[in-house]
Amino acid sequence: MIIKPKVRGFVCVTAHPTGCAAHVQKQIDHVKAKGPIQGGPKHALIIGASTGYGLGSRIAAAFGSQAATLGVFFERPSEEDRPATPGWYNTIAFTNAARAAGLYVGNLNGDAFSDDIKQQALAMLARDMGPVDLVVYSLASPRRTHPRTGVVHKSALKPMGASYTNKTVDTDKGIVSSVTIEPANELEAADTVAVMGGEDWEMWMQALHAAKLLAPGATAIAYTYVGPSHTWPIYRDGTIGRAKIDLERAARAIDAQLKAHGGGRAFISVNKALVTQASSAIPVVPLYISILYKIMKAKGLHEGCGEQMQRLFATQLYNGNQLNLDADGRVRVDDWEMRLDIQQAVAEIWPHVTTENLAELTDIVGYRAEFLKLFGFGVAGVNYDAEVEPHIPLT
Ligand code: NAD
Repeated sequence: MIIKPKVRGFVCVTAHPTGCAAHVQKQIDHVKAKGPIQGGPKHALIIGASTGYGLGSRIAAAFGSQAATLGVFFERPSEEDRPATPGWYNTIAFTNAARAAGLYVGNLNGDAFSDDIKQQALAMLARDMGPVDLVVYSLASPRRTHPRTGVVHKSALKPMGASYTNKTVDTDKGIVSSVTIEPANELEAADTVAVMGGEDWEMWMQALHAAKLLAPGATAIAYTYVGPSHTWPIYRDGTIGRAKIDLERAARAIDAQLKAHGGGRAFISVNKALVTQASSAIPVVPLYISILYKIMKAKGLHEGCGEQMQRLFATQLYNGNQLNLDADGRVRVDDWEMRLDIQQAVAEIWPHVTTENLAELTDIVGYRAEFLKLFGFGVAGVNYDAEVEPHIPLT
């Protein structure tokens, strides 16, 4: 089958297996080129391992410090005549490369919020890997079925308290317009906390602890975003920000438990704004990212998920480094994004962007290219006119 991109709003409903594999290989090559990460993880559980920051973390653990990894994710498998979602192909590419390098790889495709997947993960760890010294919690999901109550919580991307009006861009059509988002009510905020907050991370840690599958001194980490004031009403101070406050609460609770259990640690890393399937769904943020990419590329500071996670592992978590924590106890790998000169440049451009000058003032071209790469399209060296087998099993 010849597979071409079919973009529908902020998703692409097709994915290219060869392109996804080439995209993953680039991240692997980057980690390898940066050299070994001393004192890095040897047995890592990555929850949300198939795309974005979770995939970047998995690659940094495996190819930076030869870690055995168990990856949990939720992807639609391929069918005879229908491509899979990209995380499926990413995982196959990662699995092939890691096994070729002699590393153990375990994969679990299913709902990480469920008790069933947690039990399956524990069984796989007990059978194949043993206790884990790193747990990465990198889920981004629009909904969660609560395993105790059965209630389906849906997350909202809304401001709190008052409506929010700002510029946004339709990245597909290239149209800049004003968008007004009505505030969430308390139920929507609570639902978002239920999906993207820390409860499920705590459930994973409790299950691992109870099964004696946490190695002494284990590290647990989850990710958040802070960003500049243009985005605060929709992110930091909005419903998703509420959930992230709860994730930070969970980090402190897990940290205390891990410290009592052999001197481990848990914390939050604040990562850079990047094009991922999760971030493309947030209003206003894609316009910010398009401007940010322009500035950061011009200054030679641009990084993708792979580079961010390699830097997190190599300069903060391991290699004998001390964590460089902010006043709220978080690691910052958004430090380059938040540099004063970068943020001033973004703030200068922001009010002037229109549909007409979008391509000139922002890196919308780069945004679109990165977006398509998430689905394996537009990757250098891949022949998109060639027949490709969409149906690939994950073994
Ligand atoms: P992503 O959409 O690329 O990845 C989400 C992952 O979660 C995928 O592996 C997916 O399969 C998995 N997943 C989703 N629902 C699941 C479920 N029910 N069960 C099992 N797996 C499931 O997202 P991302 O942008 O990499 O986000 C990961 C984390 O990083 C989030 O906490 C996000 O808030 C944070 N973050 C993202 C950005 C950004 O700009 N993208 C910036 C800073 C922090």
